[in-house]
Amino acid sequence: LKKKSKQWEKEANPVNLSAVLGAGIMGGGVAFQSALKGTPILMKDINQDGIDLGLSEAKKLLTKRIDKGKMKPDQMADVLNNITPTLNYGDFGNVDIVVEAVVENPKVKDAVLRETEDHIGENAILTSNTSTISIDTLAKNLKRPENFCGMHFFNPVHMMPLVEVIRGEKTSDRAVATTVAYAKAMGKTPIVVNNCPGFLVNRILFPYFGGFLHLIRDGADFQHVDKVMEKFGWPMGPAYLQDVVGMDTSKHAGDVMAEGFPDRMSHDSKTAIDVMFEKERLGQKSGKGFYQYE
Ligand code: NAD
Repeated sequence: LKKKSKQWEKEANPVNLSAVLGAGIMGGGVAFQSALKGTPILMKDINQDGIDLGLSEAKKLLTKRIDKGKMKPDQMADVLNNITPTLNYGDFGNVDIVVEAVVENPKVKDAVLRETEDHIGENAILTSNTSTISIDTLAKNLKRPENFCGMHFFNPVHMMPLVEVIRGEKTSDRAVATTVAYAKAMGKTPIVVNNCPGFLVNRILFPYFGGFLHLIRDGADFQHVDKVMEKFGWPMGPAYLQDVVGMDTSKHAGDVMAEGFPDRMSHDSKTAIDVMFEKERLGQKSGKGFYQYE
């Protein structure tokens, strides 16, 4: 968060073209933000439906900006022209940085990262938006692990200013510096963190969720807790936040945190998240979580 740039930050490669793998919630958001702030981006998915979804989300966000008077209608085409949708790696030879944002599955990510490495230049930087997989694990099968690091955005990408840049064991200063510079060019606030379960933000957020889950087990009303935290000044309370994140994602990340920090982050009995997950009450994505959305 320091404003003064450090010596290693000067090692950044210029970023004239970027690419994102996956046009889903996060990949679509990364493409939109990069395009909006002026770095052209290739957006790759495995099927046209994925691409169409990513593009329609970008159009929706741009329309909202125009409606709010934050952008002129004729600027919309310029932003959209900065996003090049693709189903293959054809143009990846010219990219300076890639953000991998495919499904949170280590095997899929491993295959996607290795294939990408074969199509990008030797100096290009490869990053992953993983929330829970170790950066060193993902780097293990790469030919150039020094060019690889984490670039962890938060949801929704266009609204959340922070980006965690995660340095793995073999990550070079150049990779970190380029990723930091790209995050800044996207209008974000990057922080450089070491690789560990939860990186930094989830190490803060999950103990907070843990406190909330204990409170409701002790009989507190979740709506009341949400209101209290909103009055405290947070944009939303913990129950609503869990609904936005999704019980499946939250449970998975919670399990990773408990495994990484058993003394601090494990629960001695089932939590409300576990129960809702079992009942497929996943939050906003399924229409029902703590709150009802149907
Ligand atoms: P998502 O399911 O919305 O999108 C994943 C996309 O990847 C889909 O469009 C899918 O078609 C595509 N895909 C799958 N295999 C691919 C391949 N081989 N090549 C190209 N595209 C492929 O998922 P998401 O929520 O956007 O999550 C993506 C990543 O971001 C995950 O690693 C997740 O942990 C991380 N993340 C998610 C959030 C969140 O709140 N959703 C927040 C931070 C980080």
